[in-house]
Amino acid sequence: MKRCTECKGGMKELSAKTPEGFEYKYFRCNRCGEEILDMGQLHNVAEKYRSMKRFNAKISKWGLSLGLRIPKELVEKYHFKHNEEVMMIPEKEGIKIIPA
Ligand SMILES: [Zn+2]
Repeated sequence: MKRCTECKGGMKELSAKTPEGFEYKYFRCNRCGEEILDMGQLHNVAEKYRSMKRFNAKISKWGLSLGLRIPKELVEKYHFKHNEEVMMIPEKEGIKIIPA
């Protein structure tokens, strides 16, 4: 049985779901209530989040600028509207688009 790193009490394996519905397992100490998520589980959940949040879009030419078509799902999720201004924040790996 897995032992608690805080009090050495026995730990029980439990499962829970993220708000997005991804199931994961974790251990909870029967004595002090300490909760531990093992690295494998953490990796699985992170991997699912990554795949869920990935969207592909094609850049197309609009006059002298380039336009990016935002997928319907993201338009709805972030309430983007036609002709509305957004903030574009340059980051290390790409551009972050924030509804204004
Ligand atoms: Zn404990």
